[in-house]
Amino acid sequence: MENYKITLLKGDGIGPEIVNQAVKVLDKAAEKFNFTVEYDEALLGGCAIDATGVPLPEETVAKCKASDSVILGAVGGPKWDNQPGNNRPEAGLLGIRGALGLFANLRPSVIFGPLKSASPIKDEIIGDNMDIMIVRELTGGIYFGERGRDDSSAWDTEKYSVAEVERIARVAFDMAMKRNKKLTSVDKANVLESSRLWRQTVINVSKDYPEVELNHMYVDNCAMQLVRNPKQFDVIVTSNIFGDILSDEASMIAGSIGMLASASLSGGKLGLYEPIHGSAPDIAGKGIANPLATILSVAMMLRYSLAQPEAAEAIEAAVAKVLETSRTPDIYEEGLTKVSCEEMGDLVCAQL
Ligand code: NAD
Repeated sequence: MENYKITLLKGDGIGPEIVNQAVKVLDKAAEKFNFTVEYDEALLGGCAIDATGVPLPEETVAKCKASDSVILGAVGGPKWDNQPGNNRPEAGLLGIRGALGLFANLRPSVIFGPLKSASPIKDEIIGDNMDIMIVRELTGGIYFGERGRDDSSAWDTEKYSVAEVERIARVAFDMAMKRNKKLTSVDKANVLESSRLWRQTVINVSKDYPEVELNHMYVDNCAMQLVRNPKQFDVIVTSNIFGDILSDEASMIAGSIGMLASASLSGGKLGLYEPIHGSAPDIAGKGIANPLATILSVAMMLRYSLAQPEAAEAIEAAVAKVLETSRTPDIYEEGLTKVSCEEMGDLVCAQL
């Protein structure tokens, strides 16, 4: 029987509440699909600052590296907003991605049938099964480039190497091959030199994937097209900052930020799986957070890191079924049952 070692980084705010539900669902899936899971916990973000003075203690990196995969809740909150930039909870997030070499961030934007009415976009525009996969470069670009500040100005640098673009492009082309063989590369090549290198490199890589239909789109146009005609997209590949913004936009098309999962991959087996939303300090401790994004992140982990695709599908199907009758307050609709974070976890387990 396979045994997996999973490190839990519960983090701050609603992090512990949602990760606890995801663990419950993973345990249920393990029981059903005949594998076992061993958990270890480590500190990241505000809770790590409180306990150790830094947002990413070395022990956390070591534990994550020694595991098969990592589940992360969320970090940050008003308590730590006045920390200096390099010692904020979010610095821990960037740090762990860098330390684990997680250069590819996969963000699916999928509409679950019962949630269609939660989308702010008209039915006829989203169609029956909107399913977009955004592949975002995660360890390069302006978030990691040289930055500085003097008395009257401040600067950040967008910089990409050919090697960095090549490896993210390969992840995206491989993903396209497993889906509908359609890839949109998003850049700002009409203005930015780094985007011109991005575009040329993606074109070069495309020669190894003759079956994939590749097109290029400027980021401003893409932002517009995502709400005008989201059905045109299948896999989108883009830089760190553009991917950050576009995937949040795509998430709203899907209805709720509480529904969207993500995976960060290193090219090897180890991945970090987390919801795309933050620590939601406004609702932390109230028991009303939506745990489904974290539960769906566990499904991604089973698919991309643990080679348990059947368990992944079963979790996704259970979530879709539960949504027909029960909702947390963020996605509640009249006539359905309003449930707490914990009740939602229990319902998904029961459905599994
Ligand atoms: P947020 O995603 O935490 O919250 C935005 C809004 O969405 C809030 O009204 C919140 O209540 C709601 N929301 C988010 N997740 C929800 C869930 N699962 N169920 C129900 N409602 C949910 O974004 P923010 O308010 O901009 O940031 C709050 C803190 O989180 C900040 O400190 C920020 O830096 C941090 N943050 C962390 C991450 C991360 O850990 N990956 C990502 C984004 C923001």
